[in-house]
Amino acid sequence: MANIAFLGLGVMGYPMAGHLAKRGGHHLTVYNRTTAKADGWVAANGGGRVAATPAEAANDADFVFCCVGNDDDLRQVTIGQNGAFSTMKHGAIFIDNTTASADVARELAAAAEAQGLHFLDAPVSGGQAGAENGQLTVMVGGDEAAFARAQPVIAHFAKMVNRVGPSGAGQLTKMVNQIAIAGLVQGLAEAIHFGKSAGLDMAAVMDTISKGAAQSWQMENRWKSMEAGKFDFGFAVDWMRKDLGIVLDEARRNGASLPLTATVDQFYADVQKMGGKRWDTSSLIARLKTQNS
Ligand code: NAP
Repeated sequence: MANIAFLGLGVMGYPMAGHLAKRGGHHLTVYNRTTAKADGWVAANGGGRVAATPAEAANDADFVFCCVGNDDDLRQVTIGQNGAFSTMKHGAIFIDNTTASADVARELAAAAEAQGLHFLDAPVSGGQAGAENGQLTVMVGGDEAAFARAQPVIAHFAKMVNRVGPSGAGQLTKMVNQIAIAGLVQGLAEAIHFGKSAGLDMAAVMDTISKGAAQSWQMENRWKSMEAGKFDFGFAVDWMRKDLGIVLDEARRNGASLPLTATVDQFYADVQKMGGKRWDTSSLIARLKTQNS
């Protein structure tokens, strides 16, 4: 059993920390900026300790997990005032599950190394449901030896944990993931929009084509709610725009051409203007008005 700190008990972090305590049997110390959530977590999980700052949470931890919003939040809880790096013990491992830039991952890995710590960028895919069911996919960048120690711990909330390369490679892999999803969701939205405009029975259509080459997780899990205009399934448009912003910045640097991703990013900006900041990412279909709907 290890001492584990968890920083950030949001939609994702709350259940992930729960799996580390319950499935893993580890000793958890939790920190959340809004302390009431940390108190609630301890009550719901029948144990663990609440810390007032990241530094206090991290001081006797073997592993410090983190799932906050963006690069700035991540800097605050690591190298900011009362950040975790100020108290972590020599050889301890910081595992960052935030979706952030590859740059901040490399910056924090270097800062960690200078202090005798390890930093793994380990963003996740699988959404709220994956976090609650402990079935996330975790893409890890960083040192091989640190990964070997962390992998069995991360596995308590994951169905797949893989090291994809050095520091930053986990975040770059998450960018590949988001690029693939953005185009796919727009394609599915247009497919449903077209089918409805043609007056087709969409249940019959989807039942048929989901067994063929057009099949996807999004098609299987989202076509019904997309057709019904229900967009309350977790990963929010605001978060997707943050992720696509990171992707497009990186593409400007590495020269990749992402015309579809850039266009879909603007489509999500339209959804935000329609009031859909907290709608889930399948809401791209809301931009497409159907004659038969
Ligand atoms: P969330 O529910 O908004 O939670 C964010 C957490 O970060 C909260 O605990 C928040 O504290 C904390 N936080 C934010 N800024 C902070 C700061 N400056 N200092 C300290 N704590 C701070 O977000 P989420 O949905 O769990 O997402 C977290 C990360 O996972 C994001 O990077 C997101 O892109 C990524 N992700 C999300 C999903 C998903 O489906 N939701 C899927 C994959 C990846 P408070 O409670 O005080 O606000």
